[in-house]
Amino acid sequence: MVHFKLTESDKTWLVTYFPNLRFAENKGTETIVGPLEFDAYYDKTQDIFIHFPNDDYTGKYRIQDNYDVQIELVSSDFSILPQVKEIGGRIKQLGKQKKIPLYELHINDDGTACLSGKYDQQEFYNKGFILKDFFYKMIIPFFYDQSFYEKYNEWPRDWWSHGVQGEIRNLIQRVPFLQKYIKDPQSYQRLMKLLEAKKVRKEWPCICGSNKRFVDCHMDFFVFTRSVNFRKLKQFYKKR
Ligand SMILES: [Zn+2]
Repeated sequence: MVHFKLTESDKTWLVTYFPNLRFAENKGTETIVGPLEFDAYYDKTQDIFIHFPNDDYTGKYRIQDNYDVQIELVSSDFSILPQVKEIGGRIKQLGKQKKIPLYELHINDDGTACLSGKYDQQEFYNKGFILKDFFYKMIIPFFYDQSFYEKYNEWPRDWWSHGVQGEIRNLIQRVPFLQKYIKDPQSYQRLMKLLEAKKVRKEWPCICGSNKRFVDCHMDFFVFTRSVNFRKLKQFYKKR
């Protein structure tokens, strides 16, 4: 377990921008508790969140909302980053209302928020923990997504951005070759089938959806499935 220690600048930043959150200590673990108030929108074209947009911003996906949170500054089996819990019961309520299990709302079995894929977590961790970035790039996007889903019945960040799909998406982003072929839900489904296979064969239907066999179509993809990256992708997928 890793304990995260807040720096003086983390603390100054927090009391300035989130004055309603307070520090507490729980059995030696630093904790941040209280209402998390945010005002943000997601810019799909750039895949970034804009926080505190100007008052003249009138885009329809701007969301101002708040959630009662508890942030424990310690890692767990689920995440190497601090543990974030929504403690006001709102996400549970949302699950009931939409009649879906909590994991589909990206809540881990221990009740913590599943903020991002393991690869993103690792990358974030490697850069060094900064509270401000954790809030703006991980926590607020998570709650923004929840509010968005509550309102529009769909997730703002594209169709594959969560759960196992999120993990695969993370990997696809790191393997430029895959991006050539995995562009829509259909090709994604075909990829999932290939991932489940012990060994991909050249007589199988091509990933591109042409209904031709690999051998008559995109042999480059077939060759790729035999490469190290594809095996890693499979292993990673199987772990979930
Ligand atoms: Zn093809």
